[in-house]
Amino acid sequence: MSAPFLWHNGRLKPWTDATVHVGAHALHYGSSVFEGLRVYATPQGSAYFRLADHTRRLFESARVYDIEVGYGPDEIDAACLELIRANGMGSAYVRPIVFRGAGSLGVLPQADGPVDVAILALPWGAYLGDAAERGADVCVSSWRRPAPGTLPGWAKAGGNYLSSQLIALEARRGGYDEGIALGHEGLLGEGAGENLFLVRKGRLLTPPTSAGILAGITRDTVITLAGELGLPVEERDLPREALYSAEEVFLCGTAAEITPVRSVDRKRVGDGIPGPVTRALREAFFDLFGGRTADRHHWLTHVHDP
Ligand code: PMP
Repeated sequence: MSAPFLWHNGRLKPWTDATVHVGAHALHYGSSVFEGLRVYATPQGSAYFRLADHTRRLFESARVYDIEVGYGPDEIDAACLELIRANGMGSAYVRPIVFRGAGSLGVLPQADGPVDVAILALPWGAYLGDAAERGADVCVSSWRRPAPGTLPGWAKAGGNYLSSQLIALEARRGGYDEGIALGHEGLLGEGAGENLFLVRKGRLLTPPTSAGILAGITRDTVITLAGELGLPVEERDLPREALYSAEEVFLCGTAAEITPVRSVDRKRVGDGIPGPVTRALREAFFDLFGGRTADRHHWLTHVHDP
């Protein structure tokens, strides 16, 4: 895992030159907020997908935890662009992270304590490997997501990913590609690192973001694209068993993109192959980057002037 450069506290550095002190608050108490973005190689050159939306969520997450980023959103956007140019990357997965550094060891963050900002860019293919094409085998996790009012689900904070690790580890141990967590009330939530959609009786359904899940940017993209395809999405509470009678199930996220699910808890979904709605949405999604769909929503930010 490396690239020639990363961005750290205001400047580009060789990958190996960015170090963190072992006393960093984030290391002990999970006080980091981060984003995951993708840069796609389009016919007009490399372009970020929904850069401004990711940066906005980064600042919203930081605000929840009173973390002063120390740079403005425009500076973060510019740094993201500069990093891809410096690394000469066509496509990439990009990880901006803001975290509390080494100050005191108390849980209460010092108001003037150090905050680090870093941006990493890596070549990264399909997150769930060949499951993106064949369909993922998933399980419903025995671990639930934190209830609203416990750990804030909308904030993309490092500490939240302890829950994701439990879900993903359990799934891997059971021989699955990914795990789906229920929310605190036992209703469907999200994957360890993806939002969840299903098609039932021809309707496209997804759990509401009030359920303590991450308000995913890919989820929002899918809702928009589905509307344009004449398939309005219903955001509503769904019981676990809805998965077992769904014609189609898919996961979506920046890393996972749109990944069809072919089985849940070893029960086959539909015909066990990606269904027509999932395929249509995947096509509409990837057509944005292939230049076959116009960028109507200004979701692309080109790294070089096209
Ligand atoms: N839920 C969780 C827990 C995630 O980690 C992610 C990935 N960021 C998502 C959903 C999908 O969010 P997005 O589409 O913004 O990447």
